[in-house]
Amino acid sequence: MKGLIFNIKRYSIHDGPGIRVTFFLKGCPLSCMWCHNPEGISPHPSEITEKRKIGDREFVRKKISGSYYTACDLLEIAGREKIFMEQSGGGVTFSGGEPLMQPAFLAEALRAFRSAGYHSAVDTAGYCRKKDLESIIEFTDLFLFDLKHPDSKMHRHFTGAGNRLILENLEMLVQSGSRIHLRIPVIPGVNENTETMTLMRDYIKSIAGSGVELISLLPYHRTGSSKYGKLGMEYRMEDCKPPRRERLEEIREMFMETGIDVNIGG
Ligand code: SF4
Repeated sequence: MKGLIFNIKRYSIHDGPGIRVTFFLKGCPLSCMWCHNPEGISPHPSEITEKRKIGDREFVRKKISGSYYTACDLLEIAGREKIFMEQSGGGVTFSGGEPLMQPAFLAEALRAFRSAGYHSAVDTAGYCRKKDLESIIEFTDLFLFDLKHPDSKMHRHFTGAGNRLILENLEMLVQSGSRIHLRIPVIPGVNENTETMTLMRDYIKSIAGSGVELISLLPYHRTGSSKYGKLGMEYRMEDCKPPRRERLEEIREMFMETGIDVNIGG
């Protein structure tokens, strides 16, 4: 079996504990306005068009984002960095896109990494079939679970889908006793206001079990904005500015009331 992957990041330090290799699987059922990996949304290989002007001449280069790999290929790639992972308490992370859009491949890869003695994390937005999520619990050491907006209508407006399925899946994971790090993008004009963050905090308080170990506040940034034009997509967050450090600290204080550790930046 092969999985479609659009990026492999070595020496990653923001996708779970320690030094990690992160595999970005293609395909996502959401379309968040701020997505900084828009090339990961389509479940198919995507064409990227790069234009460069030298003098009066414009040069156009096309490339394809997305290549097929087997679980054995991924083991071989991660194996090159295994010593760094072991020494730092790291491992591998499956991200995306939404890795649960390729559930059979993800399960096969997680099983292979478990057999080879790796720590494995899955970075998910939670908008997936419950049975697919259940099928990987046994082989996943840590879930990095995104929470974007507590109000379903607003969630639909900003991401293209309501949040009911996501919250049900999160609650199922909490009840399963899985280790979970919650990740909250902090985005002015979307969810950074006090009312929304209070609702989010109170929701977390109401569901959190001992498996929820960390809340990471991920400040909005514009890193992926230049990719949109190259994919023939429109970037809808032109007017959004990253949140101020003091505001992030205020939100951090709010979330500390849950009794869970809170960090800024993942
Ligand atoms: S869930 Fe993540 S990958 Fe999917 S559209 Fe939103 S930000 Fe992008």
